[in-house]
Amino acid sequence: MAFFKQLQDTFDSAEACGHLIFGGKDAVHETYEETIDGSLYSFILTLLKTLQERPENGTIETNPFAKPEPELTVLEEYKEFLDYKVVLNKYPVVPYHFMLISKDFLSQDTPLSPIELSAIYSILLELKNSEHDREWFAFYNSGPQSGASQPHKHVQFMPLSPGFSNFASSLVLKEEYFVPSEKREPLQDKNLPFAHFVAPLPRDQELTPDLLAMTFIALLQRVLTVLRDEGQNHISYNVIATLDYMMIVPRSNAKYKDIVGINSCGYMGLVLCKNEKILNFVKEDGILNILGDLGFENRHGLPTDEYQY
Ligand code: AMP
Repeated sequence: MAFFKQLQDTFDSAEACGHLIFGGKDAVHETYEETIDGSLYSFILTLLKTLQERPENGTIETNPFAKPEPELTVLEEYKEFLDYKVVLNKYPVVPYHFMLISKDFLSQDTPLSPIELSAIYSILLELKNSEHDREWFAFYNSGPQSGASQPHKHVQFMPLSPGFSNFASSLVLKEEYFVPSEKREPLQDKNLPFAHFVAPLPRDQELTPDLLAMTFIALLQRVLTVLRDEGQNHISYNVIATLDYMMIVPRSNAKYKDIVGINSCGYMGLVLCKNEKILNFVKEDGILNILGDLGFENRHGLPTDEYQY
């Protein structure tokens, strides 16, 4: 059966039988904009009360991905990637929100391997071929300050609302694709108050495992340099993968003022709030301010030298 059909059927029956906790029909979505130096940034603020039921701090002992629920399992293995399963997120933010998880325990603190990157892009391509009018993205929260809640390796996939595009998609428009080399730097938007590194991908060429792995490593190098320069004793970052670009954001903190938890979705422009109090707090303090506080200073214009990883 085609991948997307299998995904839909598994989601629809898991939802009908109560195996997943989805409050999306009652979710309140709000488009929200902020400006810095004349540049406009768009966000979607979502109030989703079922997020309150999502476990916040998973442990290896209570790991739900050691034996994922059969009703949530879309595929026991994905194509030639025999060591990975496709499983629905039990607390989806949007319909069909799913994950690629390792069958055996691998730590969420490990970087994405070339095989994992190939699997991610194979899934994104398959989704694009079945869903022409919606764009999907994959995200990976890695490290103690990344906003991850489960320690077992998992990469998540979500569709974007039609018409929504985040700052990274504007940044890569008309840009040549990134060739990892000493002379090329990933793209950065100089107005944003946080370090981020964006590598545009070729649109008309095959995304080979080598290209994906070299691109990811080049981005991860920038993260390691930032974390070293900032004297951090942990390696925490968010990865966002689309067919147009790969982006990485080094993280200093998972939660703003111990109230607002942000993971990769926040840097994709999607801010999820589990209650009204958090929603109002986000609006009062400002999303860009929060994203800045949870990351590190923007590195735009800083040259790469021999002191970089
Ligand atoms: P993260 O917070 O990035 O570590 O992602 C972990 C995801 O796992 C969260 O989005 C949860 O909604 C999801 N999750 C938690 N428990 C389960 C479970 N038993 N089955 C499937 N997904 C789960």
